[in-house]
Amino acid sequence: MLKGKTALVTGSTSGIGLGIAKALAQQGANIVLNGFGDATTPQTEVAALGVKVEYHGADMSKPAEIEDMMKFAASKFGRVDILVNNAGIQHVAQVEDFPVERWDAVIAINLTSAFHTTRLAIPAMREANWGRIVNIASAHGLVASAQKSAYVAAKHGIVGLTKSVALETARTGVTCNAICPGWVLTPLVQKQIDDRAARDGITVTQAQNELLGEKQPSLQFTTVDQLGGLATFLCSPAADQVRGVAWAMDGGWTAQ
Ligand code: NAD
Repeated sequence: MLKGKTALVTGSTSGIGLGIAKALAQQGANIVLNGFGDATTPQTEVAALGVKVEYHGADMSKPAEIEDMMKFAASKFGRVDILVNNAGIQHVAQVEDFPVERWDAVIAINLTSAFHTTRLAIPAMREANWGRIVNIASAHGLVASAQKSAYVAAKHGIVGLTKSVALETARTGVTCNAICPGWVLTPLVQKQIDDRAARDGITVTQAQNELLGEKQPSLQFTTVDQLGGLATFLCSPAADQVRGVAWAMDGGWTAQ
C-alpha cells in the first residue's frame, strides 16, 4: 500500500516509534529512523522487511538538528511523504517543584519538535498533493493526571497543533491526525512502574496492576502492534477524510 513512499518517524529507536516504523515498512514504505541509543539493531530490523532505511540522530530539542534531519531525509529519498511525530519524554513532579529545565525539555521534545518537522515537511507534501502527518499524543492529550503538568500541556498542545494543521491542509491530499494511546508497556512506562514499586515497597507486577487499575478500564496495555495498525490505517486511502482527529486507543481511559 505504501510502496514508493517515505516515512520519517521521530523517536523510533525504541517503543511505539519503532513499532510504527516497522508497521509502515511492512506496507512497503522506506523509513527514516531517529532517536537516541543503539540505532543499528532497529535499522537491521526495519531493513529485514525489504525496504530502504536511513537513520539520523537529530536531538528533537534542537531546531537546527531537526532542520538537518529533514534535509537529510529529502536528500536520501526526495521527500518525506509520511511524518510521524513520536519522540517524547516524561517527567513527574508537583508543578511547584517542577525543574524549569525539565519543563522546557518536555515542551521542546513533545511539542515544539512537531511544529518544526511539520513546517519543514508540508511544502513538499503540498506540492505532491499527498501527505500524512500522524502525531503521537496521549490520553494525556485529552485528560490530565496530577504531577504531569509539562507532559499534559505538551500533549494537549499537540492535539491543538493537529487540528490547526488539518484545517490548513483540508483542501489538499495532506491529512494530519493524532493518536492518543493509553498505557503502552515501553521503556518510558516501565520506568514509571519501577519508580512506583520502589516508592511503595511493592513488586513490579503489583505496581503494573495498580497503574492499569487507576486509569485503563480494560486492565490491559495498548500494544505497539495495535498502534502500528492504527497509524497504517491513517495512511491508507480509507482515511482520506479523517482530518484533525485525536483518536484514543486507551482501553477506555478517556471514556470515563
Ligand atoms: P520510549 O522511551 O520507548 O521511546 C522514546 C523515543 O524517543 C526513543 O527512541 C528515544 O530515543 C526518543 N527520544 C527521546 N528524546 C529524544 C530527543 N531529544 N530527540 C530525539 N529522540 C528522542 O517511549 P514510548 O513509550 O515509545 O513513547 C513514544 C511516544 O508515545 C511519546 O511521545 C510518548 O509520550 C507517547 N506515549 C506513550 C505512552 C506509553 O504508555 N508508553 C502512552 C501515550 C503516549
